[in-house]
Amino acid sequence: MAQPGPEYPFCRRLIQGPSPSFIRELAASRYPLAMYEKGLEQGASAYGHGGYISIPELPAGVAVRSSCYPEIIDESAYVRILAPAGGWLSAGTLEELAACAEDYGRGLVHLTSGGTIEFYTTRAQMVATARKLNAAGLDVGSTGDDLRCLTACCGPARCEMALVDAPALATYLGQRFIDEQQYPGYPQKVKSGVSGCPNDCIRAMMQKDHSFIGVYRDVPRIDHETLTVWLQKGGDLDRLIAACPAGALSRSEAAAEGDAERGNLDGDRSFADGEVLAINATREKPGAAGRLQSFAMNSGRQAGGRKLPVETDVQAPPAPSLVIDAGKCRRCMACINLCPAIRPGRERGVAWVAGGKYGHRGAGGPMVGYVLVPFIPIKDGDYTAIGDLYGAFLEFWADNARKKERVGDFITRIGPRRVLEELGWKRSQ
Ligand code: SF4
Ligand code: SF4
Repeated sequence: MAQPGPEYPFCRRLIQGPSPSFIRELAASRYPLAMYEKGLEQGASAYGHGGYISIPELPAGVAVRSSCYPEIIDESAYVRILAPAGGWLSAGTLEELAACAEDYGRGLVHLTSGGTIEFYTTRAQMVATARKLNAAGLDVGSTGDDLRCLTACCGPARCEMALVDAPALATYLGQRFIDEQQYPGYPQKVKSGVSGCPNDCIRAMMQKDHSFIGVYRDVPRIDHETLTVWLQKGGDLDRLIAACPAGALSRSEAAAEGDAERGNLDGDRSFADGEVLAINATREKPGAAGRLQSFAMNSGRQAGGRKLPVETDVQAPPAPSLVIDAGKCRRCMACINLCPAIRPGRERGVAWVAGGKYGHRGAGGPMVGYVLVPFIPIKDGDYTAIGDLYGAFLEFWADNARKKERVGDFITRIGPRRVLEELGWKRSQ
């Protein structure tokens, strides 16, 4: 097992203990550990300002970071690889990456927080590295003011909650907009992500300039037979009811005393196709958890608190049972996550959320995105309409944004309604 030598006392401290250690990984490669040691010794990073560069053949996907200690290394150069959506890498691809990192880099691969992969290499080796990666079916990009690598959760390839095929949509968008990922031509960087459901495991709404979130727009379905089994096994109905951020869940006995109507849900939907919800989610009243899971509902067309019919898989549910007030329900995942008897509605599509960003970048600081369109239906895996909308926005933003203006700050400045008007997206009545 690789250990830093005695000349690296600070690094040796960081390798103690049973946990996996990044120092162990760095020490096992040709990473210049003396740089890190120097930084620990001085209490400041040994690396200086970095910058994305363009070189012949590679307008994007390459960058350098300067060194504060040129006697150790003159600079740190790297290539950034567009990772497959969903984050999977087969053993074969990992072997190709490993061979490339050995031959052209420092024998080290960095999985970035943005979902890409980086190799430390040299300026002289950048083009050769990219060619080698191309031969392995990979490519570089996602640096500077371009469209960054599209990320996605695992979606239905690994998760039962998936409402849409997140990696498939991200792959479609990534392939359609590959030039935009490899040529920096925008006023600022643009990050994009796709989550399969409102759980938003990749935190796209808070971190990405554009996120497409799988949503449903009819009411969650309750399977009362499964609910009975769940209760018999110790399921806690009170806890389930309390978990609803909208107060939409109640025991069926309570609902029977009210004005609940039962029947077919058709026609009692929360959204018309394309109806616009253009509010900043940060200004909604519910607490953070409820707010972030509930963006897909407040269209203003709900049934005013009227208890609407609940679609059930069993006609006569055994007591105690559960009803959902469709007028209050936010179509989130809180009850679905907790109870296997509650499943999402069947009408599925994506919400388009634009303007999310984390960190203190840009005039507005950190932002949760604007829900520009709460429901875009997806039929038969055809993502053309989403791609058209996405492309139209990118063009409009590129033409009208100020230099270095992130998408969220741009929308805040001109207003979400103007964005939708410019894109020809009309609110349905
Ligand atoms: S966002 Fe939803 S579909 Fe994607 S991994 Fe999380 S729970 Fe599963
Ligand atoms: S989907 Fe969300 S808002 Fe609707 S009943 Fe379940 S927990 Fe409540």
